[in-house]
Parts: sequence; structure tokens; C-alpha cells
Amino acid sequence: MSIDTEELTTCPARITLDASQLAFFDGLPSAAPSLQSELGCELEHGHEGSHAALGQQVEATMWWLQWTLSASEINPYTWCPAQQAPGTQSRNDNDCTLFDGHLGRHSSATTYWSADQAA
Ligand SMILES: [Zn+2]
Ligand SMILES: [Zn+2]
Repeated sequence: MSIDTEELTTCPARITLDASQLAFFDGLPSAAPSLQSELGCELEHGHEGSHAALGQQVEATMWWLQWTLSASEINPYTWCPAQQAPGTQSRNDNDCTLFDGHLGRHSSATTYWSADQAA
């Protein structure tokens, strides 16, 4: 298995949460102390489909804000199951940090990699 070592380039899109979105995240039973009112897309530069930023994580559920030029919505997801080092028991920095079913390449803290390179 080879890891794509292409330079990490994240989509530059950003979104400012509106009052109802902030209120929604505020109402989640999350231990996260502070929610940023502006979030940046966490997908790969040039990705297809909606932009996506992780708003809050509540236990196994990740609430992602997804948006296009004309609309935005908050959707619950679980973690993308892809790992760069398959077989490891717990999540680590090499696991995909995106949501299950995302478009484009998988993303970790250090790199992007293609699905056909993962197990
Ligand atoms: Zn984006
Ligand atoms: Zn992934």
C-alpha cells in the first residue's frame, strides 16, 4: 500500500453560522466548551458536492454543517471508517477525520489518501 504524499490542500470555503445554527449546536449535550461561529470546510480542495465542516461531536454522532452557495444544513454522521493503518483498534491521527460517505479522498491530520489505497 502506498500513501499519497501530495501536499495537504484544504478547501478554502468558510461559513458563518446563523443564529439558529448556533442555537442548535448550543443545545447539544456536548462537553465542547466553545463553538466557533465561523467554520472552514474540511474537505479536499476542489472536492465535489457540498462543503462540510464538523460542528460538534456528541458521543458517536458527529454533527456536520454542510453548505452550498445557496443553502446550508446540519446533518448527523458517524465517522468515516477508513484507516491508513487498517487493523488498529482505536482511532488515531492516521484515521480519516471526515464523515461516513464523504466525497473525495479521505483526510487525516497529516494527509489525504484515495479510497483505493485503503483496505
Ligand atoms: Zn469545501
Ligand atoms: Zn474517509
